[in-house]
Amino acid sequence: MDKVRFGPSGNEQIFYDEGNKSSTQAPKWLKEKGLSAYEFSFGRGINISEQTAKIIGQNAKDNDILVSAHAPYYINLANPSEEMIQKSFGYIEKGLYILDCFGGRDYVVHVGSCGKLEREKALELIRTNLKRIVNIVKENGLINGKKICLETMGKPQQIGTYEEIIDLCTIDECLVPTFDFGHINALGGGCLKTYDDYKKILDLAIKKLGDRAKSCHIHFSKIEYGNKGEIRHLNYDDTIYGPDFEPLAKVIKDLNLTPTIICESRDRMMTDSLILKNIFERV
Ligand SMILES: [Zn+2]
Repeated sequence: MDKVRFGPSGNEQIFYDEGNKSSTQAPKWLKEKGLSAYEFSFGRGINISEQTAKIIGQNAKDNDILVSAHAPYYINLANPSEEMIQKSFGYIEKGLYILDCFGGRDYVVHVGSCGKLEREKALELIRTNLKRIVNIVKENGLINGKKICLETMGKPQQIGTYEEIIDLCTIDECLVPTFDFGHINALGGGCLKTYDDYKKILDLAIKKLGDRAKSCHIHFSKIEYGNKGEIRHLNYDDTIYGPDFEPLAKVIKDLNLTPTIICESRDRMMTDSLILKNIFERV
């Protein structure tokens, strides 16, 4: 059964300081810390071997860690070049294949940015190309219960306001939002403060996507922002930029949601995952 899960993106320094050397050791270590999720980043490329991915998958299963993966940052489904679209499709297919070796479920994808296109035109291309890649991965058996989790973005030129992401996810049931609340807050100049600020986003997702919105993917970290949105990730000690997790934790409980919540704090992804988990348990 689905449950709320917390975990880091990648390995923070204390993982190595405590004597670990390889990501294959991460699932056991995370379980010992009290966590139950782990995100593996292919941001700069998919460089893991199938064999290593399968070892991580077995260790994750043994330790009740749900593994997710983050697709390469250079995917852009709004690129007008068909050659580049085919490359993006390749990264989605290859990533889903490795995620399968992990025994994982969620594959986080940035859909793309406007480039020189009008926003509406970029969105139209993304819609068309999402339909194409969904058909491809369904036909070749790569989806098989997994979710492609389209992420809300933190800069104005990127496609990925929460309204855009929820709308794109209506295309197919294998598409689910990754709500990056740090991004949403940065893009909105500090728009996430109250319980209702979070609730209206999740209410919209449930209204448009139904039950599958309840097991959405979440990225949570505090993020510094300026006029042009996101500047850099911070850790949970920041008191200036936010957002705060506590109101979101209450919304998740009140709406009976079961998201996987991945912490992307600067240098403290695991440590801050535990802070988020503790907040969730006490609200
Ligand atoms: Zn991301």
